[in-house]
Amino acid sequence: MDRRHWVAGTAAAGAGLLAGCAATPPAVGTSKTIFPVAQATIPIAGSGELFPVRRIYCIGRNYAAHAREMGSDPTREPPFFFQKPSDAVQYVVPGTTADHPYPPLTKNYHYEIELVAALHKGGKNVTPEQALDLVYGYAVGLDMTRRDLQRAMGDEKKPWEIGKSFDRSAPIGPIHPAARIGHLKAGAITLKVNGQLKQNANLDQMIWNVAEQISKLSQAFELMPGDIVFSGTPENVGPVVPGDVMEGAIAGLPTLNVRVV
Ligand code: MN
Repeated sequence: MDRRHWVAGTAAAGAGLLAGCAATPPAVGTSKTIFPVAQATIPIAGSGELFPVRRIYCIGRNYAAHAREMGSDPTREPPFFFQKPSDAVQYVVPGTTADHPYPPLTKNYHYEIELVAALHKGGKNVTPEQALDLVYGYAVGLDMTRRDLQRAMGDEKKPWEIGKSFDRSAPIGPIHPAARIGHLKAGAITLKVNGQLKQNANLDQMIWNVAEQISKLSQAFELMPGDIVFSGTPENVGPVVPGDVMEGAIAGLPTLNVRVV
């Protein structure tokens, strides 16, 4: 049904509600939203510019040892994806420690250190060979997870949403353009809590590399500029409590420092 028919149908069905409306809807382009909604953004390192966030895609179980600790078989099955709302990003200025609120409802709040790829081009059915052309740059991110809620929902065969896609569940550092730092395919990825090393792996241990992730994602969704992709976490995820300080590091990017409050 096109828009004209939809409007007509709605008017017929709800004549009383729409009695005060003009018979002709305003032309597209002249209508205004009734209030503004903030565009989520991430600063771009070394510039005064901002990267606008359209969607946050996340890949699950993309390092073999982490897949095993989550109770699944890390054979090279097709990757699976979930999303966080774009306004889940919490930008963290390098060299500072950002306060990150312990979220409601959970008693088992987990860190997951991840490389994030930010796209400035879109596409459908992108090949792995083409995929890195879509990547504008990279950042350090945390896929914060209410693990108890994620597990409980999984056990009940219900959506993970409440475990993964909550407010401020995506602390992230600035985006570093690939034009300046290259494409990050190998190098240390680590997470410390209160100075103690918890996660320690290498980007080259991903089951599906960033190019392959983008290619697979683009078969399921039309990718667009502004999409960002969390590329999965290595093993040894674990809990934090208020007062804990997390330091996430990926070779070639500044450390991400977050204090749970
Ligand atoms: Mn994750």
